[in-house]
Amino acid sequence: MADTPTDLFLGGKWVPASSGGRFDVYDPSTGEVIAAVADGTVEDAIAAVDAADAAAAGWAATAPRARAEILRSAFELMTARKDELARLISLENGKALTDAAGEVAYAAEFFRWYSEEAVRAEGTVMTAPSGANRILVVQQPVGIAVLVTPWNFPAAMATRKIGPALAAGCTCILKPASDTPLTALAMAAILAEAGVPDGVVNVLPSRSSGKVVSAMLHDPRVRKVSFTGSTEVGRVLLAEAADQVVNTSMELGGNAPFLVFADADLEAALDGAMVAKMRNAGEACTAANRFYVEASVAPEFSRRLAERMAALRVGPGVDEQTEVGPLVNEDAVAKVDELVTAAVADGAAAITGGTRPDGTGWYYPPTVLSDVRPASAILREEIFGPVAPIVTFTDEAEAIRLANDTEFGLVAYLYTGDLARGLRVSEALEAGMIGLNRGLVSDPAAPFGGVKQSGIGREGGHEGMLDYLESKYIAVSW
Ligand code: NAP
Repeated sequence: MADTPTDLFLGGKWVPASSGGRFDVYDPSTGEVIAAVADGTVEDAIAAVDAADAAAAGWAATAPRARAEILRSAFELMTARKDELARLISLENGKALTDAAGEVAYAAEFFRWYSEEAVRAEGTVMTAPSGANRILVVQQPVGIAVLVTPWNFPAAMATRKIGPALAAGCTCILKPASDTPLTALAMAAILAEAGVPDGVVNVLPSRSSGKVVSAMLHDPRVRKVSFTGSTEVGRVLLAEAADQVVNTSMELGGNAPFLVFADADLEAALDGAMVAKMRNAGEACTAANRFYVEASVAPEFSRRLAERMAALRVGPGVDEQTEVGPLVNEDAVAKVDELVTAAVADGAAAITGGTRPDGTGWYYPPTVLSDVRPASAILREEIFGPVAPIVTFTDEAEAIRLANDTEFGLVAYLYTGDLARGLRVSEALEAGMIGLNRGLVSDPAAPFGGVKQSGIGREGGHEGMLDYLESKYIAVSW
């Protein structure tokens, strides 16, 4: 922590905010201040665009292999420092060290994957159907990218954007979440050490997110915004991006259904449920938000899930024994508490957990709710906490109808022993990603993203770099 940077990273230099202002970062396990970080202003945002602009032509012209090798070095540096990065994530976000270590490995993989993709920005050539000319298509970097990330995966949401942006030849400005800016600043230091030239990656923490991001999106030099966060803020940024017709990628909120059919391997479904629900203490856009269980197996599934949830060790994230850390801040705990209280008032039963503990730190206990009423807010809103609401269904058609009854469409999970049913239901579920007999879908090599109000575009995989490239068509006679 002592040598973690706390200034802005602009044009390859660590600088204080132009106003001299700083804001506090807290340890969620105690509520105590752990650092004061430079609070970027609109002037700093324009300086970041100046730096990204000055570096843009040089970076776009850098050989793909050279860009690839810098990304590969960043992967290796992250891997070598995985323990210290995990502690930093755990300290400012609250998540358990095991979750934080998993995040560092996942985050580093985006640098490795895009070091491999950097050399594969393929174009095409074909003869026009008329035979008169050739149709040549080349891929070029979209231009300066503004990257806005949430607090729940402070390393991975940054590398999932920086990796493909750099591979494609774009320069960028990262605006990290104000709850977790330290990890982003640590990543900037690693990228500089890996050989990223000055101005190619700029990091701008700011408490005035709306103002600084808006200023950048209204600057005609900015051509791309990639946002991960809530659907509510995503809508605001889509409107802001309209002014200069900025290319947008949106990774927004989720409300994942988790379906368990009676023919499923129940032990495997429970393993998957624990991962899908409890990775990051439920603070994940991919978190299972609603459990739909076929009526004949629902009592057993609920009882065994409650046993597993009740056995989890809750404590400070940095404590090695901890399996579930605190939530990120007071607002997060208050929201979870409100949703659970309302669901119980509507008629649900808390078979484990369900009561906010007294004492310091932003803790909420692992909770399982059975008999949740269909109209309960907890089934409509993202819980973002360690709470599993369970609803029963009687047949496949009802399961699909309940699962799709949401404006979100990020991910859905289903467990069944019948693969034909699994594929049939996967096709019917309105989601960008499906976990079929799996509770974890995130993989840097796969296209991550949502449909409906969960987003636009894909991150990861081959598709992820396409979000930072434009096709240029050259009609040519030769
Ligand atoms: P959030 O409130 O939308 O904030 C996300 C980022 O946007 C933060 O950096 C925030 O800065 C910034 N921001 C807030 N208001 C802004 C504005 N008016 N203009 C520009 N930037 C603004 O979301 P969050 O609470 O950090 O994260 C949780 C949400 O992210 C959940 O909905 C979750 O599902 C979603 N998420 C989605 C994915 C995915 O891949 N689909 C992955 C992870 C999380 P401040 O911190 O300074 O407010």
